[in-house]
Amino acid sequence: MKGRKLLMIPGPVEFDPAVMRAMGSPTTSHIAPNFIEEFGQALERMRTVFLCAKGQPFVVAGSGTLAMDLAGANLTEPGDAALVVNTGYFGDRFGALLERYGAHVDHVRAEVGDAPALEEVERALRARPYKLVTITQVDTSTGVLADVAGIARLAREAGALVIVDGVCSVAGEELRMDDWGIDVALTASQKAIAVPPGLALVMAGPRAMEAWRRRKTPVLNYYADWSNWLPIMEAYEARKPAYFGTPAVNLVAALNVSLGQILAEGMEERFARHRKLSAACKAGIEALGLQQLPVAGKRANTMTAPYYPEGVDASVLGKIGEFGVILAGGLHPACRAKYFRIGHMGPNHAGDIVATLAAIERGLAAVGYRFEPGAGVAAAQRVFLEA
Ligand code: PMP
Repeated sequence: MKGRKLLMIPGPVEFDPAVMRAMGSPTTSHIAPNFIEEFGQALERMRTVFLCAKGQPFVVAGSGTLAMDLAGANLTEPGDAALVVNTGYFGDRFGALLERYGAHVDHVRAEVGDAPALEEVERALRARPYKLVTITQVDTSTGVLADVAGIARLAREAGALVIVDGVCSVAGEELRMDDWGIDVALTASQKAIAVPPGLALVMAGPRAMEAWRRRKTPVLNYYADWSNWLPIMEAYEARKPAYFGTPAVNLVAALNVSLGQILAEGMEERFARHRKLSAACKAGIEALGLQQLPVAGKRANTMTAPYYPEGVDASVLGKIGEFGVILAGGLHPACRAKYFRIGHMGPNHAGDIVATLAAIERGLAAVGYRFEPGAGVAAAQRVFLEA
């Protein structure tokens, strides 16, 4: 029997063998010519993935929360006002993080599973001037997809910098920094970028870098301070050695491999593939009679968040695991025991969705839930077979 289970949680995801080979290759010095080339290339490739031609990329060892810190610490000065467009747990985290750096934070919220309407965001932006607006593109706790283009337009009209937490979206969901006027987008390696956990990735556009340069007070986080990292990123891109903190050599090598694969696929094709995987997964879930946490029209393409059906609880996840697929439980504190989460991003393909729905069917059957066997798998297949 094949020993390894399919990892279908919203990060870490399944990784490509070539990416894993880079992880396992001999570690070289962080100033060895081969590594300088890999790091430099990865930084260049990030601009295409973030669709931000003039952005400044940062790649720093740490998780996605460090990426949030890199944006928050460098762009907040005590007394700044920030608006968090809050669609769940990670919006709360961004608010708390900005407050730590002295910001006055307001949240514009919606019911769990929904996103605030653009009119509400507009009303909040009219109430007072904000230096920053943060948007979680996909809040992984709810599976809600925010209207980043719409919110970014309003925020820029109001003169605010736009920061997008794209941890569960960059390289999976459509995100166009230049076209949509986004000043910072950030992510982590372990999601749609498809590299094992351990890298914080940030792309800062020209307005963000300018706002940072005009700071009057020091950045209140030593490790995250762009003054430390900007010379390093510039040096590697110029194919020169530099040192501030030892880079995660193997992770950066793996990042460069994965970014190469992403660019070979093409961003538009990648967005379309994620939409297709999502449509198939959601069709399968619906065919089994399961409702979803996010409201229709605001559902992420990188993950699905179904409610357990009547009479079923989180113990079904253990059964699904026995049938070879690992899924995640709920995360939002308001309803964590009522739903589960399926990630479908990065290298996932149609076969992964079919296998996942098959395991879900077997798990549901094992706990006594009644449905037409194969209904979920068939619904997904119908989506994949559509022209
Ligand atoms: N933001 C979002 C939207 C996330 O999904 C996550 C991780 N699930 C984070 C931030 C934090 O990332 P990390 O766990 O890598 O620190």
